[in-house]
Amino acid sequence: MPVTCSGRAKWSGGRLVFYNAGVKSWEVIIVGGGIIGLSLAIALRRRGGRVLVVERGEPGREASYAAGGMLVDSSLETPPALQALAVASARMYPEFAHEIEVESGAKVDLRDHGTIVIRSPEDVQERPGVSMDELSPRALSELEPELAAKRAFYLKERSVDPRALSSAATKAAKNLSVDFSSGDPVNAVDLSQGQVTGVTTSKTAFLTRKVVICAGAWSGQIAPCAFPTRPVKGQMLCLAMPSRTLLKHVIRSPKAYLIPRSDGRLLVGATVEEAGFDKRTDPGTIQRLHRAALELVPKLRDARILEDWAGLRPGTPDNLPILGATQTPGCYVATGHFRDGILLAPITAKLMCAVIEGSTPELDLAAFSPLRFH
Ligand SMILES: Cc1cc2nc3c(=O)[nH]c(=O)nc-3n(C[C@H](O)[C@H](O)[C@H](O)COP(=O)(O)OP(=O)(O)OC[C@H]3O[C@@H](n4cnc5c(N)ncnc54)[C@H](O)[C@@H]3O)c2cc1C
Repeated sequence: MPVTCSGRAKWSGGRLVFYNAGVKSWEVIIVGGGIIGLSLAIALRRRGGRVLVVERGEPGREASYAAGGMLVDSSLETPPALQALAVASARMYPEFAHEIEVESGAKVDLRDHGTIVIRSPEDVQERPGVSMDELSPRALSELEPELAAKRAFYLKERSVDPRALSSAATKAAKNLSVDFSSGDPVNAVDLSQGQVTGVTTSKTAFLTRKVVICAGAWSGQIAPCAFPTRPVKGQMLCLAMPSRTLLKHVIRSPKAYLIPRSDGRLLVGATVEEAGFDKRTDPGTIQRLHRAALELVPKLRDARILEDWAGLRPGTPDNLPILGATQTPGCYVATGHFRDGILLAPITAKLMCAVIEGSTPELDLAAFSPLRFH
């Protein structure tokens, strides 16, 4: 794939270096153009910084393309250490999505119908501090007439289409004059006397004093940063609902979740597998997801299968994100968002802007410190 980049280039010391009336450099270089890198690039650019996103492939085509897009902030399912970030990010979503839509001219399908969670009351009661409204059988059948469940809880929660969001965020970033280099991986963060001076890709080098690693499941592969991220595979199935409004709510049950999109697609997800960097789907697993969907909504037997896929969530040893400044001056990280990166994109961008600018973030990031693994 070709490398695309604004600015003029010259060979220097065996590397292609970009110049623009002198040496071209950026205030911040973001490594990785998933939803985390894109959201941060947009936030930094809105504050006036010159930002370059360096993406190995195409922006927004890895985990952020594979995700379901549930914006889960309930204390039933969110790790306690992540709760404050999850709630803050969920609150930011309407404005975050609206701004991206305006700046890109594209829709992201933010939906506000809520989620129906199929869990036993005992399971819910076992979690201290969790309160959820149990739906009466009548209320449940009014909300989702085709759902074959007798007991369920309702959560006020949104969903978004991550593919549409990532594509719109890429357009918005470009419209805001964020620079992009696509199709060439960053191999290393360059240092001089312990301070960041730029990044080296397989074909070129870019200059900056500040680098943020947002490379998702691959964040541990960029020297000299050794973030302990690992890929956690998720397989998904996509059906075309026989009617666009067959389901309105996101449905979560222990066997599968169902996420309706406004165009009539229905996502059925997802596995959580330790399978290295393997992104192949397995027919048996996809059939299991399909059967789980039919058990939940028998009318889906008339649904066409559109596609299946797998993506790699960025996992960490304690399943919490890695956010903040590293021990290397000028080197920052925002990764490891595991199952919640779509949800956490707005708050991550906001908090990381504060960290990069040297001010105090409005939420405590101690639990997410990159230094906690040393
Ligand atoms: C099946 C599935 C379902 C999910 N469902 C949800 C959900 O419902 N809600 C939710 O909030 N989250 C969900 N997630 C999680 C969410 O998708 C991730 O947490 C989020 O997308 C992570 O974003 P990211 O930008 O960190 O990573 P990515 O989107 O993976 O982006 C990282 C980018 O870095 C690039 N890169 C890697 N190495 C380099 C390099 N050396 N140089 C340059 N670029 C590089 C990659 O090409 C990639 O584009 C789901 C994930 C999966 C797989």
